[in-house]
Amino acid sequence: TATFVNAAGPYINNVGAMIGIKLPVFNELHGKIAFNDTLGIIPRHVPLMIWNDPVYLPWSEEERQELGAFEDTRWLLEEFPAGVHFRPEGLGQSPVLLILWTYDIEEQEPVWPPTFDDFYPEIVLRGLTRMVPALSAYINKMGRPVVDGGYYCKTRENRPLVGPLPVEGAYIIGALSGFGVMACPAAGELLAAHITGSEMPDYAAAFQLDRYEDPAYQKLLEGWDATSGQL
Ligand SMILES: Cc1cc2nc3c(=O)[nH]c(=O)nc-3n(C[C@H](O)[C@H](O)[C@H](O)COP(=O)(O)OP(=O)(O)OC[C@H]3O[C@@H](n4cnc5c(N)ncnc54)[C@H](O)[C@@H]3O)c2cc1C
Repeated sequence: TATFVNAAGPYINNVGAMIGIKLPVFNELHGKIAFNDTLGIIPRHVPLMIWNDPVYLPWSEEERQELGAFEDTRWLLEEFPAGVHFRPEGLGQSPVLLILWTYDIEEQEPVWPPTFDDFYPEIVLRGLTRMVPALSAYINKMGRPVVDGGYYCKTRENRPLVGPLPVEGAYIIGALSGFGVMACPAAGELLAAHITGSEMPDYAAAFQLDRYEDPAYQKLLEGWDATSGQL
């Protein structure tokens, strides 16, 4: 085949480099924890729930004093951003809760497997107790939560890249950020239309790499709040 598709997720720039193409993307590490709600605090029919206000983590007065005494732990007393969210995971008698929260977004090079701060599960649980106070029962008694996650690969405006690259026969499908599971059928369909030379939908240009060459699009980017709505 004379067709090459770069679909390497967080590594699209590493693969792009093989054909001399630098893509305008960056990566953020996003974690999640899974733990057993052995006390049955969360009813299993509860849907995905998102806390959309900033929070302060709950600490006892003694903990507060101790954390405040040291430079490297003082941040735990400061305000944390909105966005802690959770849902029950698994069917039947599954006790598993999935909890996600990215409170310290920063751009970074992808490293596999990703590693997370030892504090991460406890911070996430404490943050979630602002929405579900009864979950405080698990503070210091969480057992061994499973911690994992991955990278959101993003463009600055958080809009994916789907379409041809400036090397004949090469295409990109990537920068699907934190919504790629939901968006992949449409993104795949759009890419297939490019490759097969099918009739293009009217939104196709909005996802192409060459959109950045359009001065009107660049102007639009100046006032674009790409953090809004992205968990
Ligand atoms: C914690 C977390 C929670 C998320 N939750 C949701 C959610 O609830 N809903 C949602 O819609 N999305 C969610 N996402 C986002 C979603 O997972 C991504 O948007 C999606 O996986 C991106 O798909 P992709 O195919 O571009 O990249 P990936 O899924 O990363 O796939 C890229 C593939 O390329 C392979 N690869 C890389 N380099 C090479 C190479 N050199 N040669 C060959 N193969 C290579 C990799 O092994 C990988 O299989 C979440 C992401 C994270 C991290």
